[in-house]
Amino acid sequence: MSLQDIKSKTKEELQEWLKEWGQPAYRGGQVFRWLHQVGVESFEEMTDLPRELRQGLAERCYIASAQVSRRQVSRLDGTVKYLFRLFDGEHVECVLMEYHHGVSICISTQVGCKMGCTFCATGKSGFSRNLTASEMLAQVQAAQKDSGKRVSNIVLMGMGEPLDNYDQVLRFLRLVSCGEGLNIGMRHISLSTCGLVDKIYQLEKERLQLTLSVSLHAPNDEIRSRTMPVNQKWNVEQLLAACRSYAGATGRRISFEYAMIRGVNDSDACARELAGRLEGMLCHVNLIPVNDVTGNQYRKSTVERQKRFVSILERKGIPATVRRTLGSDIDASCGQLRRRAEEGEAIHAVVRQK
Ligand code: SAH
Ligand code: SF4
Repeated sequence: MSLQDIKSKTKEELQEWLKEWGQPAYRGGQVFRWLHQVGVESFEEMTDLPRELRQGLAERCYIASAQVSRRQVSRLDGTVKYLFRLFDGEHVECVLMEYHHGVSICISTQVGCKMGCTFCATGKSGFSRNLTASEMLAQVQAAQKDSGKRVSNIVLMGMGEPLDNYDQVLRFLRLVSCGEGLNIGMRHISLSTCGLVDKIYQLEKERLQLTLSVSLHAPNDEIRSRTMPVNQKWNVEQLLAACRSYAGATGRRISFEYAMIRGVNDSDACARELAGRLEGMLCHVNLIPVNDVTGNQYRKSTVERQKRFVSILERKGIPATVRRTLGSDIDASCGQLRRRAEEGEAIHAVVRQK
């Protein structure tokens, strides 16, 4: 009999399941709080449960966890990048950032990614497997425990394509926002996608109050197809139609991610074309100077280019900002650490083991 993933169950599912064992309804809530609010790693720690129940649970279930395998701390701003080891020896990355409004965590949703974007370190390492909802939660819990900080915002922007792991990601969102769990509200959560159009329409129907980030990175198919293979399946027009529909239905502003790559997508003409295509949409453009991933030919746009791009967008009524880069001394963009670990390269950056 394979063990059950108890931390991926909702409170209601736990209640139902425990009822079948003849347990009273409140047991479900008790177990849920131990797993989510306290974050125990064994059933023995659930001290207000009868001994037989603890034993029964231990025989049938496992509690997903994430072990700190490496920790890098930025000397510049204190951003912490974790490499977590999962039960089967796979690794995922996660970044903890402190802003004036609270602590944000960037978590992974898959080990690797199938989408193959040419500028992305994760895309280059290929795909291994999906994460469970409980493994996404375990990243938040492990980072909180290790850092002693309380996470207030979550971005699903680490390794993997969240909408390619739709069911587990949705389950994670419901668990993490539950009042009896970590209680991080949807308005404090962002989900980033490279543009799986069918799933954007599906997500629209859930009417969640999260922020949808869309990795656009180009104003037209010619440029986008060069760096993002997904554009061959759903082109810019189809993607933007889905975004318009999503913003219209949910009333939530779409956040477009645009990695500025020198000489590829950062011309004045690109800015004008982008502004034209986004006209009238409830949106915001987040410009990110592309991160130089070892082994690719991409370079960041100059600061002058970035400013000029923003000013063209703004003149045409599209709100845009250049994102502040945190942790730039520790390669704090996901995919880079796992890749190095795989390549067997020693990591010499500031590693502070407790
Ligand atoms: N798969 C999802 C979420 C994970 S990637 C997505 O693609 O949206 C998170 C963000 O990092 C995306 O916007 C992605 O395009 C961006 N990204 C990946 N590699 C990058 C790089 N080298 N420089 C800047 N941004 C990068
Ligand atoms: Fe996957 Fe996102 Fe990287 Fe593209 S940018 S390869 S979708 S993780």
